[in-house]
Amino acid sequence: MSVNRDKFLEWIEACAVVLKENKDYLTELDSAIGDADHGANMDRGFKAVMSKMPEMIDKDIGTISKTVGMTLISTVGGAGGPLYGTFFLQVGMKSAGKMELSLEDWAMALRAALDGVVMRGKAELNDKTMVDAITPAVEALDHAVGNNTPLDQALEESASAAKEGMIATIPLVARKGRASYLGERSAGHQDPGATSSYLILQAAADTWAGS
Ligand code: ADP
Ligand code: MG
Repeated sequence: MSVNRDKFLEWIEACAVVLKENKDYLTELDSAIGDADHGANMDRGFKAVMSKMPEMIDKDIGTISKTVGMTLISTVGGAGGPLYGTFFLQVGMKSAGKMELSLEDWAMALRAALDGVVMRGKAELNDKTMVDAITPAVEALDHAVGNNTPLDQALEESASAAKEGMIATIPLVARKGRASYLGERSAGHQDPGATSSYLILQAAADTWAGS
């Protein structure tokens, strides 16, 4: 079982839909511990990505993901733009020339995406950032690869792990990004970036089910 180029594009489209649906929710989360723009940022970025669909439609997965990353970098400001840009550029690098991804390919691509985000943003686990959602998702995928878990189930486990990581950001004190300016007052709120990361990974599980 594998994710082909069309399924990959469906995921990108699903990200655009889910981030639009959750625009107000993400903004509400960012208004508690940031500057109330995360929902608008992600929605603007993925709208711009959708406008690139015609040029992505017949490309390999690497080129598609690199186009997504570059578009996010050029249209989304703040911390989220460069970090999500890096995320998709790294997925693109690992998928260069590929027309389909196996579970193992996806596990390696997501690992590279996480490493890229960490290298760029210097956040560690439990700093209350998107890293807290992506890290457990990567670990769940590695575990699934080791156990020969079917793709559907592996993606579900990875999305569930991201959700747990997202929820676990609530009590944390932020140590990176704007929320860190609040110090102890950032505790008690769910991190917006961890939330968008969970939504993106859940969209992969939903779109790629049955692949
Ligand atoms: P900004 O903080 O510039 O307004 P956004 O609101 O779009 O940007 O994104 C905020 C999110 O970015 C945070 O919730 C957090 O998850 C993530 N973030 C911020 N700084 C970092 C960092 N250094 N490393 C990883 N993620 C970060
Ligand atoms: Mg913000």
